[in-house]
Amino acid sequence: MRYVSTKMDQYFVAGRGFGGLAICYHLKKKYPSAKISLFDPNPLFASASAAASGLLEPIGGRLAARSQRASEGLEATKELLDAASCHVRKKVYKDGGVLHAPISANQRVVFEKKRVQNPQYFEWTQGGEFLVKEGVNVFSRDYLEALYSLVLSMGVQYVPKKVPYEPTVKQIFYAVGKEIDKELPGQFQLIRGQAMQVQRGESIFSLPKVHKGYVALDSDPAVYHVGSTYERTNLDLPSDKEGAVKELIKRNREIFPEVAFLSPLGVYEGTRVYSKKQERLPQIVSLGANQVALTGLGSKGLLYHALYAKEIVSAYA
Ligand SMILES: Cc1cc2nc3c(=O)[nH]c(=O)nc-3n(C[C@H](O)[C@H](O)[C@H](O)COP(=O)(O)OP(=O)(O)OC[C@H]3O[C@@H](n4cnc5c(N)ncnc54)[C@H](O)[C@@H]3O)c2cc1C
Repeated sequence: MRYVSTKMDQYFVAGRGFGGLAICYHLKKKYPSAKISLFDPNPLFASASAAASGLLEPIGGRLAARSQRASEGLEATKELLDAASCHVRKKVYKDGGVLHAPISANQRVVFEKKRVQNPQYFEWTQGGEFLVKEGVNVFSRDYLEALYSLVLSMGVQYVPKKVPYEPTVKQIFYAVGKEIDKELPGQFQLIRGQAMQVQRGESIFSLPKVHKGYVALDSDPAVYHVGSTYERTNLDLPSDKEGAVKELIKRNREIFPEVAFLSPLGVYEGTRVYSKKQERLPQIVSLGANQVALTGLGSKGLLYHALYAKEIVSAYA
């Protein structure tokens, strides 16, 4: 019998950030012949994902607490990082860990306790920095571009428009970043972030380093990403780039002294979306008969996007 494609084999995905692209990947993996249209009215590098500095870590906060579902998240993200790297024949990440320079004697004590409890995850470097061994530095823009190219090569069709509502398609997946606030007003916390790219100075970082701010690496060894601001107010006003640069210098000058004298190559911004639930994990939310959203990736989009994309596809496709 000849296989006839109907609208019931058709899916819409809204959003070309980490979330939407990962959903496309898992949909195509599950249903190679399904028709998948990926909608986004904005340029590829306009999303929060393109502003991400690239720290993929299984821990969070000043106490280095292990994030919930960290091992599953790392595993799922690594599958996509490798698939994207293989597709473009260029590694879009650097593993080897993320360094944390303790901000106080107290934090050093906390880190040491973690190391004693979990020597498989943590160690001190000779320079007195705390190495999170599983940490990865993703080159976010390279990854985004490679993953986008990969899903197109799998047969996903890009449509440069806002997603329309279409009752006859099997499922519409929303991964629309801060725009979720229009669908579900007030249910998520929005925090704007700005980070800058600078030309490398005297300081050489062979691994990304976190202190009060952080310095992350780029696929171009002459460039560093310096982050980040956490802006909770005036989100409806244009961002203050000059203020952000001052803040980024203040946060990073102890680990990267010449940052104060290097002019930024660019300042990037995006809005992080956080769940208001206590555990702050990403959310999969049904929006109606054939509409479902993946949201709340917060500042851990790299740790969670692939895992939750796999789960939303498994539950709703
Ligand atoms: C400065 C900064 C630094 C960060 N650094 C890190 C980091 O180091 N590590 C980390 O893990 N996370 C980091 N993050 C967080 C990370 O960027 C986010 O968690 C992640 O990008 C969210 O991805 P997303 O796909 O949900 O949303 P987004 O990347 O915002 O993508 C949403 C997309 O949806 C599109 N869209 C909106 N409305 C519609 C519509 N109606 N129809 C179709 N498309 C639509 C938008 O154009 C956009 O392209 C950082 C964030 C910022 C701002």
